Amino acid sequence: MKYGKTPWDNMTKDELLFEVWRLYQAAESARTCIKLHKIQTLTSSFWSNRGTGGNALNRLGEAMETVSKLSDKKKERLWHDFFRNALPLLFKSAKKGYWNWLVCEKCNCWTSGIEPVEKCILCGNKDLRPIRWSDFRK
Ligand SMILES: [Zn+2]
Repeated sequence: MKYGKTPWDNMTKDELLFEVWRLYQAAESARTCIKLHKIQTLTSSFWSNRGTGGNALNRLGEAMETVSKLSDKKKERLWHDFFRNALPLLFKSAKKGYWNWLVCEKCNCWTSGIEPVEKCILCGNKDLRPIRWSDFRK
């Protein structure tokens, strides 16, 4: 395969950005799971720098350097202001459960909960819709 033939080569800037967000979030989830597994099997050579697990963690760490260099405050905002809210838009599998953010058509409040949300927590309006990308640009 040559340059120009990968699935990303003909994407628009917005499509590429979407892929970056998805892959970053999925990589962070995977890294957390791998780290938990590493704690349970720490003595294995699998986790050395030459081992498969050690290599995977090193590569994930390198791929995620852009965000890891941010201040703790900026990282926290990235997760709470963007990824937590954008999950149902980034992943079909995230549409189940309490990640379904809804937006009040009357006051523009965002709401979510473990139980199904039937009305706006601020104004009581029952006209709620699923979150969409345009909500992030306001
Ligand atoms: Zn409202």
